[in-house]
Amino acid sequence: MKQIPRRRFDCLVIGAGGGGLRAALQLAQAEAHVAVVSKVFPTRSHTVAAQGGINAALGNVLPDNWHWHMYDTVKGGDYLGDQDAIEYMCRAAAQLVIELEHYGVPFTRLANGRIYQRPFGGQSQNFGGEQAARTCAAADRTGHALLHALYQQNLRAKTHFFDEFFVLDLLIDDQGYALGAVVLEIESGEPLIIEAKTTLLATGGAGRMFRTTTNALINTGDGMAMALRAGIPLQDMEFFQFHPTGIAGIGVLISEGVRGEGGYLINSEGERFMERYAPGAKDLASRDVVSRAIYTEVHEGRGCGPGKDHVLLKLDHLGADVIKKRLPGIRESAMRFAHVDPIEQPIPVYPTAHYTMGGIPSNRFGQVVMPAHHGPEEPVPGLYAVGECACVSVHGANRLGGNSLLDIIVFGRAAANHILEYIVENRYHRPVPQAGIDQALARLARWDKGGAGESVDEVRESLRAVMEEYCGVFRTQTLLDEGISKVLELEARLQRARLRDHSKTFNTARIEALELENLMDVALATVHAAAVRTESRGAHSRLDFPQRDDIHWLKHSLYSKAERKLDHKPVRMKPLTAEPFPPKERVY
Ligand SMILES: Cc1cc2nc3c(=O)[nH]c(=O)nc-3n(C[C@H](O)[C@H](O)[C@H](O)COP(=O)(O)OP(=O)(O)OC[C@H]3O[C@@H](n4cnc5c(N)ncnc54)[C@H](O)[C@@H]3O)c2cc1C
Repeated sequence: MKQIPRRRFDCLVIGAGGGGLRAALQLAQAEAHVAVVSKVFPTRSHTVAAQGGINAALGNVLPDNWHWHMYDTVKGGDYLGDQDAIEYMCRAAAQLVIELEHYGVPFTRLANGRIYQRPFGGQSQNFGGEQAARTCAAADRTGHALLHALYQQNLRAKTHFFDEFFVLDLLIDDQGYALGAVVLEIESGEPLIIEAKTTLLATGGAGRMFRTTTNALINTGDGMAMALRAGIPLQDMEFFQFHPTGIAGIGVLISEGVRGEGGYLINSEGERFMERYAPGAKDLASRDVVSRAIYTEVHEGRGCGPGKDHVLLKLDHLGADVIKKRLPGIRESAMRFAHVDPIEQPIPVYPTAHYTMGGIPSNRFGQVVMPAHHGPEEPVPGLYAVGECACVSVHGANRLGGNSLLDIIVFGRAAANHILEYIVENRYHRPVPQAGIDQALARLARWDKGGAGESVDEVRESLRAVMEEYCGVFRTQTLLDEGISKVLELEARLQRARLRDHSKTFNTARIEALELENLMDVALATVHAAAVRTESRGAHSRLDFPQRDDIHWLKHSLYSKAERKLDHKPVRMKPLTAEPFPPKERVY
């Protein structure tokens, strides 16, 4: 058999979104030997699509401080977030946003030269008082600006990039050390082994498991599925965020920044209905609240359009100047996908799958942590996870807009700092396990067999439809139990699937099949976790259990693949220095 080539690094970063690139930059600047692997060209990672902005209590527009930001984040997450990690993130925010500015992110400015900040959902002054303005924006293309700046800085720092390489699986030895991964060069189809003293997962979310989504084709939860296959459970997967304002029928995102700038929602009667659901925050209530309100309006017959299947987002009153200057990308999306110019007409919108709150359990140093049978949870030596694939958990049961870009920057940097310490103490490469290499290659070989069988594309589209119908904005036991059996059926169909056209599309078709295997595992984790949690909290809304139940359910869930079972672990209610925010009723 042909020898598979090997490369060695201090750190293998899987993923070139904001999380991976922020970590890689820190490592390269400290002269660590770092490789970044990405299945797409780095600047095409989903971070590039972020529109609205990044939160930091700079107080440039309205008074603000990190403690208020912390309160809003705890409340926004319906008290499921770990308060030590939340405090860490909110305290670090101001410094790291200024640092981004110095890296070259062209933030929109106020007349006095300071960074412009817009109001976003769930933001308040003084622990639940007046609306705050905390989201720093580069017009409505913040993620684009941020990702390009980080990529340029990495080029300067001499980070090594493997562009368009697909990671198959992690390599973990029998003592539990993470030692790199088996990857595939997409163009040639040749495998490569990357040996590394440390491995950082920054593979982003899994929004492609739903039919209507804001997520790019690449967001298939690969890193989460790799963790599951390595025996690491996934945390809090039942919490998936549906963004209230996707373009109706298509799902393309219309940023919360539109409502931040003063846009608002109306139903078929022309009523500004959010005043009924959230009298205080109205259209800037947190996302789960607004999504449920839109869903309810439509299902009670007050939807707009011939199918009465959406509501309208009105922003013409903001004036052409504001729309052109602050929301140019939004205007473009609306004209292209909804065929309306928001300067004159409202945009038809409906909730769309957006953000994976759950993920690989990690701590505030970015270390992946495993539940221990006795005593506190233990880190997996050499393995780290940050960003949307991880669950720290700073977003709890519902993420606030603008907090995800912050999360990737803060924990990308924190993980890199921890890695730098780790590689001082673990100087040498340990031998990579042959069994792991064989297993990864077997996954690949399985798709080499052609012939008759189920179609991968059909299974994928069915999965996305099933998840939307059985595990969407509102859930019940009957729906979820049916959802589990439908996804299991699809999993069995996937095992019988074969690739059709061998000659032309071989490699990309093979990658898509591998991605669907990943998506399937993550979808099963999601629907299982949702079926077990018999309460409503944040984004997880059960019609049969409409109340939050802190007595039984103020805890994180952990789903493991082997037994398809759920364990739980406590929420860390104790911040680092601040007083804890105990759970109270969540009203906006
Ligand atoms: C349309 C949209 C708008 C958003 N707007 C905002 C906003 O305004 N503010 C905010 O805070 N958040 C926003 N978010 C959320 C936020 O952008 C994301 O959560 C965040 O950018 C994720 O960053 P990441 O580094 O974790 O992963 P990503 O940016 O998703 O990058 C994942 C990387 O992993 C790589 N990868 C994945 N699997 C593999 C594999 N098997 N092999 C090799 N490479 C792999 C990919 O190539 C990619 O480089 C938005 C999200 C969307 C979808």
